[in-house]
Amino acid sequence: MTSFSFAESHRLGDSGSNGERQGRAGEITTPHGIIQTPAFIPVGTKATVKSVLPESMKELGAQALLANAYHLYLQPGPQIVDEAGGLGAFMNWSGPTFTDSGGFQVLSLGVGFKKVIAMDTQTFRSDEVIAEGKDRLAHVDDDGVTFKSHLDGSMHRFTPEVSMQVQHQLGADIIFAFDECTTLHNTRSYQERSLERTRLWAKRCLVEHGRLTAERSHRPYQALYGVLQGAQYEDLRRKAAKDLAGLDEDGIAFDGFGLGGALDKAELGTIVGWMCEELPRNKPRHLLGIGEPDDLFTGVENGADTFDCVAPSRQARTSAVFTDDGRINLTNTKYARAFEPIDANCDCYTCSNYTAAYVSHLFRAKEMSAATLATIHNERYIVRLVERMRQSIIAGDFYEFKKDYLGRFYASK
Ligand SMILES: [Zn+2]
Repeated sequence: MTSFSFAESHRLGDSGSNGERQGRAGEITTPHGIIQTPAFIPVGTKATVKSVLPESMKELGAQALLANAYHLYLQPGPQIVDEAGGLGAFMNWSGPTFTDSGGFQVLSLGVGFKKVIAMDTQTFRSDEVIAEGKDRLAHVDDDGVTFKSHLDGSMHRFTPEVSMQVQHQLGADIIFAFDECTTLHNTRSYQERSLERTRLWAKRCLVEHGRLTAERSHRPYQALYGVLQGAQYEDLRRKAAKDLAGLDEDGIAFDGFGLGGALDKAELGTIVGWMCEELPRNKPRHLLGIGEPDDLFTGVENGADTFDCVAPSRQARTSAVFTDDGRINLTNTKYARAFEPIDANCDCYTCSNYTAAYVSHLFRAKEMSAATLATIHNERYIVRLVERMRQSIIAGDFYEFKKDYLGRFYASK
């Protein structure tokens, strides 16, 4: 009994300018509830969305939350979360939960790379950034990754098996296979070797996941997503999709797929499209670490079902908030007398009860409630934006909505 499923309900069809698109609306069923897709999944890295209570996240329409296996492994430790009854019970969140594998975090310790990179990647091609280096905190080999804790400098090792064990103890509804996340700077030959390593790790994840699922059958079923890498290369991206979709270890296959890796912003839609064309229609796809409005439209259009990103809450804490006319910074003096909601069209708790002038004052006075009110607004704004994309797919006017929205949001640029 898996009690996990995905069903596509509406297809974007061929109304786009470039022919058929993979974009769709659907529904993911998990043991802790349903996620209507496309959906933005807010990130609570350490089992909390910073400065906001789970009750507020529920109220603002978050359908699920994503926590980070690396951070929870280090603190408080997966055993404690397991004893608490799993991630959702531990943080008083009754809805669906995700954890990522920790692969991105342990590998980026030595590199510090960003998810979406807008730069000329032709000018610098070296494996130095990940294979060698001076003060690296992580070292990758064919069996796993050895890394230094950012908390106390202690040494740790993640393998595919360890990642599965940690994520089973954390107990999220949707978990991810352990992968090697490369950068756009790695050479083509490194990308090829890395992709094969990630494929072999994916097989090991399936085996360990099958063993743990049987051993822990008293716990709710956890769905495992395989993570696709391949950087900017079409053949590698398509191969990753076909390889991982075809894996079956004694009847254990991936329940869905994570679209991973660093992605060149200009090529985001093309790359997501390559992968989604190869993936089975009856399984969900999660685009990892994407949260800017234009990137979300691109991801939805090309077939991604769910998204996560720390950006809405991280930016909120720096007083940067979304409006339909672009992102604004509330500490700007022009908001000191803005006795109106942050965004006139926003239905969030903050915009329903407080003025931009008040939140602006809280930021300049360095009050903690500034982060809380701004985070509620930003998370609601992005959750609702993707909800509106879902509605527009169902209504058949996605491209109109995209053009109108992006035209206004980026008008000042
Ligand atoms: Zn608002």
